[in-house]
Amino acid sequence: VSRFLKTSGIVMKSRDFGEGHKMVTLLTDSAGKIDASAFGARKSRSKFGSSLEQFTTARYLLYRGKPENPYTVREAEVVSSPTALRENLGKYLLGSAMIEPPLRFVDKAQPDPELYALLATGLEVLQHIQEERGTALLSMYDLHFLDRMGYRPDPETCVRCERVLSGEQSRGADTMYGFPICTACAHMSEVAGAGRIQVTPSAAAFVQWALQNRLTQAMKVVMKIETMVSVRWIISCLYSATFSQVPQSWDQLVLPEE
Ligand SMILES: [Zn+2]
Repeated sequence: VSRFLKTSGIVMKSRDFGEGHKMVTLLTDSAGKIDASAFGARKSRSKFGSSLEQFTTARYLLYRGKPENPYTVREAEVVSSPTALRENLGKYLLGSAMIEPPLRFVDKAQPDPELYALLATGLEVLQHIQEERGTALLSMYDLHFLDRMGYRPDPETCVRCERVLSGEQSRGADTMYGFPICTACAHMSEVAGAGRIQVTPSAAAFVQWALQNRLTQAMKVVMKIETMVSVRWIISCLYSATFSQVPQSWDQLVLPEE
């Protein structure tokens, strides 16, 4: 087993420790989510440059003496350093909301090149997209992330009673079962005090469309506010049903509200 790992990675989290060192959490294409230390990274002429800053994508040469030891960063070559995500508050918050699900809900050291590609693409598109399309992009990203985790919603079947739902039938979402739930199940959830349940038909259609399209298509999405509110409700129900919680970074996001 080689003690060296050469991999592409995205910095999800970066923090200082000790006398001028840094520790990063990377999502890598070949080794999944890993922690790595970089000694002397905060010296004024550090060879690491911006390769250890949040949102950066780089090629890393990592080393560990034994498989049970943590990695250290030996070399890093920046591939993409998305400055827009650091300079624009709206994009920074959207980028943080993209990073949090893999940071919190994915196990360490589980290689998943598709998840890596999803985050890399999400951050890349976010760098270039018009800010008002950012929520549509984040929503597509969230749905693709849930799909990667094995929770792809099937708009044709109630997740609670498994009744088949035809195209025009109205649908709901709740925090216990997710999306979609049929009208009868939605009524039971409402009685149980689970709040607003029904989703708009265009929000249900967006969910289906988003799962069939690449994130770059977010650049073209034009959506009414009430559709976006409904989409975010569906996604928050999917996270709640899957992980029993929604990403904390959403608290900071300026999402449309009714
Ligand atoms: Zn049902």
